[in-house]
Amino acid sequence: MIWIVLLAVTTIIALIWGWRGQRNLRRELAYLRNRPVVAPPPPADPFNQLFRTLSAALDAGVIVVNDGRTIRYCNDVAAKLFGVSANAVLNHSVITLVRDYQADTMIEQSIRRRDPQQVTLQPVLSNRTIRIWCEPMPESGALILARDLTQLSLLERARRDLVANVSHELRTPLASIKLLVETLATQPPPELAQRMLGQVDTELDAVMQLVDELHELSQIESGRTALQLQPTAVSTIVERAHDRIQPQAKRKDLRVVVRVAPDLPEVYVDRDRISQVLLNLLHNAVKWTDAGGTITIEAGLRSRAELGHYLSRMLEPSNRWVIMAIHDTGAGIPAEAIPRIFERFYKVDRARTRGVGGTGLGLAIVKHLVEGHGGVVWVASSEGRGSNFTVALPVVEDE
Ligand code: ADP
Repeated sequence: MIWIVLLAVTTIIALIWGWRGQRNLRRELAYLRNRPVVAPPPPADPFNQLFRTLSAALDAGVIVVNDGRTIRYCNDVAAKLFGVSANAVLNHSVITLVRDYQADTMIEQSIRRRDPQQVTLQPVLSNRTIRIWCEPMPESGALILARDLTQLSLLERARRDLVANVSHELRTPLASIKLLVETLATQPPPELAQRMLGQVDTELDAVMQLVDELHELSQIESGRTALQLQPTAVSTIVERAHDRIQPQAKRKDLRVVVRVAPDLPEVYVDRDRISQVLLNLLHNAVKWTDAGGTITIEAGLRSRAELGHYLSRMLEPSNRWVIMAIHDTGAGIPAEAIPRIFERFYKVDRARTRGVGGTGLGLAIVKHLVEGHGGVVWVASSEGRGSNFTVALPVVEDE
């Protein structure tokens, strides 16, 4: 009997226990379901807002690394400079960003010695010049700045080349003048002295031409030459150029043919400047074509589609273009020289140009003037068979 009572009491206690447990569980679940959601605290940002804003506003690459050269921060400029995405290099070694052993070593040394250092890189593949400064921070790690100096070093090189080219171009005529004057001082026979004076005059012309063309190019390049644009008939420009080149062509026994398409629209140009462009091209054609050859001046209308290949980089998408082409049956230009032909001072072959004269500035002036009119100039040539220089000018359509 006592066992039955004990069993009953134990069962009742177990039931009460279970019921209370279930009630607590239900309460717990209800609490969990209804409790307010609290976001986990954000991880601590070691770079404050001011630093982030400042480095985003700078036009320099900003990178922060720890003592082990792991990237902790990299702004967009730095990522762009090295052609990666900022997120991709975060928490990776700095070499994954700069991809240059010399720069990595410089950063390592700078951090180890706690001494600011810099290095200039010229990555072979990108053809750029990038300077990197590493400034160790007082406690640990370093701030790295990176700047693209490509443009600056190109300008610097252009300036050095210009000085070298000008002195080279001046040296030849000046050396001849000096020699001629020294000989004249020895009082040679009058007819020889007369001939020598003529040579001095020719050499001085070469110097004057160089100085004039340099001055002209610098005026055009600096934008100080304002173009006097006015509607002009293409036939007027062609006739003017033809009349001016005719005497020289005749002297060299060259035939000049003019082919102007009928009903060409007017072009909006500075007449003197565009005449100068044609004249420069015609002078070259005369210079590089042997007696008996032919020079053709052609003018016509082309659609944008027809010139697409040459106009692809043009900003102004004019639909109709007037082309003026100068074709000669002369020496032609070797294929490897064509990409450089419009550079300042570029001459195809200095041995070939000796005795013919010329500064190597004529085509650079042509290019600047044509581009100043929103146009394009290019050349097609085959060595020994002749050249074809084409100037394309946009037709300004009435609204
Ligand atoms: P330059 O004043 O020396 O003629 P340019 O800039 O006008 O200088 O021309 C650069 C070089 O291009 C010339 O030295 C010449 O070698 C080459 N060249 C230009 N026009 C022609 C042409 N019609 N035929 C052959 N070569 C040419």
